[in-house]
Amino acid sequence: MRPFARTALAATLLVGVPALSGWAQPAGVAEWRAGHEKAIVDELRGLVSLPNVAGNDADMQKNADRLQTLFTARKFKVETVGGPGSPVVFASLDVPDAAGTLTFYIHYDGQPVDPAEWTHCKPFSPCLMSAAGPVADDPARTTFDPEWRLYGRSTSDDKGPIVALLNAVDALRATGKGPTWNVRVVLDGEEEAGSRNFQRFATARPTALKTDLAVTLDGPRHPSGRPTVYFGVRGGAGVTLTVYGANGDLHSGNYGNWAPDPSMRLAKLLATMKDDNGRVLIKDFYADVRPLTATEKAALDAAPDVEALLSKNFCVATPERPEQRLEVKLNEPTLSILELSTSGISGRSAIPARPAPASRCAW
Ligand SMILES: [Zn+2]
Repeated sequence: MRPFARTALAATLLVGVPALSGWAQPAGVAEWRAGHEKAIVDELRGLVSLPNVAGNDADMQKNADRLQTLFTARKFKVETVGGPGSPVVFASLDVPDAAGTLTFYIHYDGQPVDPAEWTHCKPFSPCLMSAAGPVADDPARTTFDPEWRLYGRSTSDDKGPIVALLNAVDALRATGKGPTWNVRVVLDGEEEAGSRNFQRFATARPTALKTDLAVTLDGPRHPSGRPTVYFGVRGGAGVTLTVYGANGDLHSGNYGNWAPDPSMRLAKLLATMKDDNGRVLIKDFYADVRPLTATEKAALDAAPDVEALLSKNFCVATPERPEQRLEVKLNEPTLSILELSTSGISGRSAIPARPAPASRCAW
């Protein structure tokens, strides 16, 4: 086991913050969006149609090229920066008398995908779905039911926000409202695969990321469906645990009850890490969590209660630590087992020996 290397993870979620509740969309923007629904959906469809699994460099370059085209069309200055792997696309827009600089982080890669598991449409052939089933393609359609969904890999995570941002800029311009801030957009092509080029970019170009406000356009909406602002996010750290047994596989009929079973040992070790209620028992696991302030608690209390909805949606009768709501628990680190494996061969009566059961944990 590598040394414990947990990063500071305290995160604050504020939903329905009083200071934001008086916010109103600039006049004319909603009308502009309503008049451009087809173009917006078509732009998203086009972007989602490009396969985007990081590691497939030729595919990723096509995504980077499309992003360059889309942002250049909005008068952004665009750079494609990268070493081996998927490049970072960095788009910047300067406006006269800027009130400040606003930087967005978005990613354009998606998680690996198995097309055989897609039932309605293939991951890179997006299709519209309603609650009742597929929505037939109609080239003459100009409006879209807000309850319809576009199915396709990365539609929401994280290509939708790219298209939303581009069209927000269009809408502000068309209505004479802005942008009034300089805008920087970092488009990471390896967010699902370690962000190596983003790390290189951040190291090599610190001034490019100098900003007054940074916003990450990634992550879910609140389950209530209301617009959500998260102030801070939990980071991540991981370890791989390997438990060793004998120096060779041993037949369980001959050595069972004598040879220690690495799988059992690992299971017992993991079981010590959380209590029956889901609280992590590792020493000092929560030691650096800053307590919530009164303002933060008030904001969390003001968020809609979605516990019953979550239980229904995910078929979970009793969540971990049910005495606290999700939004409170998001402010603490969590311990998850991402993967469990053994060197044993299915159906073989052997107690696996060598670098056997391995688990990947993250918190
Ligand atoms: Zn994402």
